[in-house]
Amino acid sequence: MKEVFKDVYHLGDSGCSVFLVDTHSEDGLVLIDCGMSLEMIKRIKKKGLNPMDIKHCIITHFHIDHIAICSDLKRFNEKVNFYAHDLDATAIEEEGHGRETVASWYGVKYKPIKLAKRFKGDETLKLGQYNFECIHTPGHTPGSISILILIGDTKILFGQDVHGPIIPGISNVADYQNSLKKLLNLNADILCEGHFGIFRPASEVKRYIESYIE
Ligand SMILES: [Zn+2]
Ligand SMILES: [Zn+2]
Repeated sequence: MKEVFKDVYHLGDSGCSVFLVDTHSEDGLVLIDCGMSLEMIKRIKKKGLNPMDIKHCIITHFHIDHIAICSDLKRFNEKVNFYAHDLDATAIEEEGHGRETVASWYGVKYKPIKLAKRFKGDETLKLGQYNFECIHTPGHTPGSISILILIGDTKILFGQDVHGPIIPGISNVADYQNSLKKLLNLNADILCEGHFGIFRPASEVKRYIESYIE
């Protein structure tokens, strides 16, 4: 578990990179995606934080590498509230969407979870002192979101699957290209990507996002 910035940690990678924000409030710890293993969660203890303080998990999209362990996390700590965009919500809340979630491709049996809230557009969750701007960035999946938080005057973007890929029958190329432009316009200082690491400063974030724009 590595500190990315004040109150922001990279918990490690299992399926995808999992990030944690410490709100130092009643809202406790906030996860960005869940990954595929509870080992991620155990690392929190080593840092002197309490995994029972995880109160929220914002899911960026329905792919299995980002959501596989959600139901085990809920069993471990029933206080966790999950959030996702409406357009990806059904595959997260119901069984039988292995094609969309790519669970079938991974050979994983996904255990559904109930969402505390389905985002209908761009929505902001105020958790402790931080505003988590959940921005609809469709393309990779219909309900993909990116999350922006401001700490001091540093903009941190959890873009997760910024790199795509475009999956036939699920992804939409035009939406994806529009979403990349939307992300570029946020002028983030730090980008936490789902599989390709952490980019900074702003010029590197820009360069990375632009590399996917056609
Ligand atoms: Zn994905
Ligand atoms: Zn991914």
